[in-house]
Amino acid sequence: MKDAEEKINIKSLDYKEIQEYIVSIGQKAFRGRQIYKWLHERLAESFHEMTDLPEELRKRLDEDCSLEGCRIEKVQVSKDGTKKYLMLLSDGNHVESVLMKYKHGNSVCISTQVGCRMGCRFCASTVGGLVRSLKTSEMLDQIYTITRETGERVSNVILMGIGEPLDNYDAVVKFIQMLTDEHGLHISQRNVTISTCGLVPQMKRLAGEEFAITLAISLHAPNDKLRREMMPVANRYSIEEIIEACREYLGVTNRRITFEYSMVEGKNDSLKDAEELSRLLCDMNCHVNLIPLNPVKGRLGQRSGQEKIRDFKLRLEKNHINVTIRREMGRDIDAACGQLRNKSEGGKLHEGICEDGCR
Ligand code: SAH
Repeated sequence: MKDAEEKINIKSLDYKEIQEYIVSIGQKAFRGRQIYKWLHERLAESFHEMTDLPEELRKRLDEDCSLEGCRIEKVQVSKDGTKKYLMLLSDGNHVESVLMKYKHGNSVCISTQVGCRMGCRFCASTVGGLVRSLKTSEMLDQIYTITRETGERVSNVILMGIGEPLDNYDAVVKFIQMLTDEHGLHISQRNVTISTCGLVPQMKRLAGEEFAITLAISLHAPNDKLRREMMPVANRYSIEEIIEACREYLGVTNRRITFEYSMVEGKNDSLKDAEELSRLLCDMNCHVNLIPLNPVKGRLGQRSGQEKIRDFKLRLEKNHINVTIRREMGRDIDAACGQLRNKSEGGKLHEGICEDGCR
């Protein structure tokens, strides 16, 4: 028997790679296509289930390959039907995934890394730093596991859970290819959203992939000075560079950009901030999503009051900016990503925060 590390992570192989692997062990390519269908369309959990493969091949796969994914360890159900899953990975680490039910279908928000190294001062996921990036199979399996659990199709996927997707670029791009591939779940690229804190070189690379996905930018501030106080990544890339990369993305994909703006009381929620944000975005095909801050113990800030958020929205609208206030799903179950994982680690991830004087 081989150790898990020596085994081939077969769920991370794309349609072409799986056929190449199968041919390399002396089988016909169509066997690879059968296995791909079992893994990515029928969502099999073991080789044993693949009953149209010869017994001998199933045994060989079991010896050579691992099925690295995730397992549900805990589910929290919100009054509004939102479900938050604590997922256990094969090495004992945890991530979170969230299922939100809308009239237009089921949306799943997935994690892309265990922890995060971006350090946004209001965010729970970054406490304890980055442990490791997820493999393509582990991202796919968050969706597959939830599909199996609910028995319902997932139609929208959002890369907005724990981690910075563009800090795990190659595995994320492969994930999008496989998720939207006609031989797998075949989710429409138009129904995939990737959220980034603004890693400019990777944003430009992503434009070159020519996906029809939505790019969401966590902006949170209308100028660099304020943004640096909230997000360390702002020391590396300026808003000007981010906006330029967005224009490039728009030019190539023609997909409207989303800007996320988490509203922190007394920090970024004044009408002056709304005016500055309007000037920044007025000539771009974009949409602003205002997110009432989900306060995290030990992290920066309180949420802005409802009136403040409404006035901010009205000011943007007056300036002809498309804007919505994000519907809060699952607030009663700590839906701000990272909080459930932190709890599962016995709160030890909370140690050491606030050293940066974030309060
Ligand atoms: N790293 C990626 C995606 C994960 S975070 C990114 O930065 O975009 C998903 C979104 O939630 C981001 O806009 C993030 O800034 C925001 N967010 C994180 N913690 C939050 C909190 N406590 N309250 C409100 N929004 C938060």
